[in-house]
Amino acid sequence: MVIAGAGPAGAATAIGLERAGALVQVIEQRGVEATRARSLFLRPQAREILSDLGVHTQGTDTTIASVENQLRGIVKERGIPIEYRQRVVGITEHDDHVSVHVQGGGGSAAVRTLEASMFVDATGGRLAATNVGAMERIPRGPSHVYVTAQYHDPGAFQRISGAFDRQTRELMCVFPTADGTGFITYLDLPPGLPLDEPAALARYDALAGKLNLGTPMSPPQAFDAQQHLARVATQGHVLKIGDSVGNADPYIGAGVAAALLDATTATRLLTADSATLAREGNDVIRAHRHLAMQAGAMLAARPVAMRTMHPGDFDGALQRADLQPSWVLELASQLLTSQRVG
Ligand SMILES: Cc1cc2nc3c(=O)[nH]c(=O)nc-3n(C[C@H](O)[C@H](O)[C@H](O)COP(=O)(O)OP(=O)(O)OC[C@H]3O[C@@H](n4cnc5c(N)ncnc54)[C@H](O)[C@@H]3O)c2cc1C
Repeated sequence: MVIAGAGPAGAATAIGLERAGALVQVIEQRGVEATRARSLFLRPQAREILSDLGVHTQGTDTTIASVENQLRGIVKERGIPIEYRQRVVGITEHDDHVSVHVQGGGGSAAVRTLEASMFVDATGGRLAATNVGAMERIPRGPSHVYVTAQYHDPGAFQRISGAFDRQTRELMCVFPTADGTGFITYLDLPPGLPLDEPAALARYDALAGKLNLGTPMSPPQAFDAQQHLARVATQGHVLKIGDSVGNADPYIGAGVAAALLDATTATRLLTADSATLAREGNDVIRAHRHLAMQAGAMLAARPVAMRTMHPGDFDGALQRADLQPSWVLELASQLLTSQRVG
């Protein structure tokens, strides 16, 4: 079986399948070390599944890089074949198997083909070849652009803090990392604006400069977290899991739990008979549908919730002291991390 993507869904599925005795190959388009700046709240199932896989987390919050690097370490330890800087660019379905087309780094290398009994799309939804027909991910809400960055600065922020500009409706918030070695910032732009990456990054840089945040550990990243949901998770020799089936707004802190739950389901279904896969394969959609509804409600409540944030004038004299601890964000994170998914 070939898995595209070594994020939480893909890496956990690879470990599960290898444990169950299946032959598996992972293709990951990025480098060996995961470097995305993203603080994570982990819901109960995420902590349970991670602990079962041998991943250590401190309490309910961690970073995506920590989770991914630990999972990738286990993949390596177990000798599961994984190729980095390789990208799945397409698939071709046959009656009894699927061809997976893979291109090397930089996009210039020749495309080679792997033959597989099943293809697991764990790319977070970026694989055009599986976003077709009923498997296509359909937008379920407005664009919602964030810029994130991670800083090494022990003790700089002890609490979840933030400021909200009531004129521009931008939120800047800071999450101290669980190990106390630094913090992760989020510039949360008003929902509804399309992603203009250079403009979002320039805006972030200007605000980070005013706030004296220092030098980030890797370049800030801008992305659109717009919700999507596919109608089906499996078709032919393809199974989509994690964000590739449906992603929900980061506000609800549930994506990793959903990705890991999908990995558990994928392991069970891909090691069962094909009738079980055909019958139960689309069950993974259910939890994602529920999360999409939760996230829609959270987005609708954003304007009200932001009123409780410390006000900041982002185009005026914004200062580091304006980033005040926010009991609303702390309470919301505690509440969410105690909820189970699905
Ligand atoms: C700002 C932000 C904050 C978040 N906060 C939380 C939180 O607090 N709690 C929580 O539970 N969730 C949170 N999430 C959601 C969570 O990060 C995702 O739901 C989760 O990472 C999904 O896992 P995945 O494995 O499905 O996809 P991803 O993590 O997106 O992994 C996909 C992998 O596939 C690789 N890939 C993509 N295309 C290809 C290709 N063609 N070929 C090969 N490889 C490919 C990518 O490089 C990547 O490594 C947040 C998300 C964002 C954006």
